Amino acid sequence: MKDISKRGMMTRIIHAGQHVDPQTGAVATPIYQTSTFSFRDADHGAACFGGEPGYKYTRLGNPTTEALENNIAQLEGGCGGLGAASGMAAVNMVYLTILSQGTHVVATESLYGPSRMILENEYPRFGVESTFVDTSNPENLAAAMQDNTKLVYIETPANPTLKLADIKACAEIAHAKGAVVAVDNTFASPYLQNPLELGADIVLHSMTKFINGHTDVVAGMVVAKDPDMLARLAKVHYNMGGTMDPHQAWLVLRGVKSLGLRMERAMENAMKLATFLENHPKVDWIRYPGLESHPQYALARKQMRGGGAVFSFGVKGGLEAGKTVINNVEIPILAVSLGGIESLIEHPASMTHAGIPAAERLEADITDDLVRIAVGCEAYEDLEADLARVLDMI
Ligand SMILES: *Cc1c(COP(=O)(O)O)cnc(C)c1O
Repeated sequence: MKDISKRGMMTRIIHAGQHVDPQTGAVATPIYQTSTFSFRDADHGAACFGGEPGYKYTRLGNPTTEALENNIAQLEGGCGGLGAASGMAAVNMVYLTILSQGTHVVATESLYGPSRMILENEYPRFGVESTFVDTSNPENLAAAMQDNTKLVYIETPANPTLKLADIKACAEIAHAKGAVVAVDNTFASPYLQNPLELGADIVLHSMTKFINGHTDVVAGMVVAKDPDMLARLAKVHYNMGGTMDPHQAWLVLRGVKSLGLRMERAMENAMKLATFLENHPKVDWIRYPGLESHPQYALARKQMRGGGAVFSFGVKGGLEAGKTVINNVEIPILAVSLGGIESLIEHPASMTHAGIPAAERLEADITDDLVRIAVGCEAYEDLEADLARVLDMI
């Protein structure tokens, strides 16, 4: 692996973990579409299974997947990564590794829907207790810590409220009580935020979103700061089986190379569109970490390198007026997900977060009028004209 750790972010995105194929000179990482690898002899096989470097079986490691794992690990400043079949396989890898019977997790209340739902609906069966707090105020985290708290699980920016958590402050609180800190960095991507450098122990991604960026792959990644944690995660992951397929890894390798370019363009569009909406008389409220009106704008400037490309807003007239927007826009596509090259729009209360009881949704500020938009890389003028037209219909 080339050491390019001191190079600029755009350079690292393109080159980290990549090398020209020594046999053929192929510049793009080949797809090693194989389930298993042959050993030279019995001793070699035994050595590989005994922990020496060498490929054994694709669930336990594959060169294409490894190229992607090394890429994301370097972008995040971690010691290594573990590719996962989906973002949720990555989330579960973290939960299953850190939590056990009689332990407790404190998590951000406004989490990606299933990340919260599995803690509420599945893990209690194994004796795991969870508390959800508004981590935008670190004091809420401090108050929720228990003697058996083993994991502090943070999402920032949080989905879909776009609230932020001060990663450094939260990590200090968690570490003082001996808990592991994991951050879901999907919304910011490594281009804008590096939680491990702010004190987190684990960072994870749904690479389905910004990292792949082309709305054609579902995939996840977990990166650990130190080798002991990576080994603990790998032990669980390889045997639980939510691992990544080499073809899937190859597609994400293709996507990640343009992460910086896409993010710059999408953020420029998001900033202009958010400013337009903020000043529009039909818009009731808007929350975007790139706007000075965001309640945690100072924190965004401190721990992120930009506001991202997702924001939420409510229009005057509430849910019904919001439906008029969603049903009539022509460029943003009505679909869940985010971080793709195309703009997507959705209604969390009835879609991504419908599985969370209404009272808990409201508690977490996921109001019924909240419309989430993930801004893509289209011509800005077209996005503004489209939104202007539908707002006039209200
Ligand atoms: C999409 C998403 C996930 C889950 O990822 P999948 O790839 O859909 O399994 C987890 N966290 C966040 C913040 C997400 O946006």
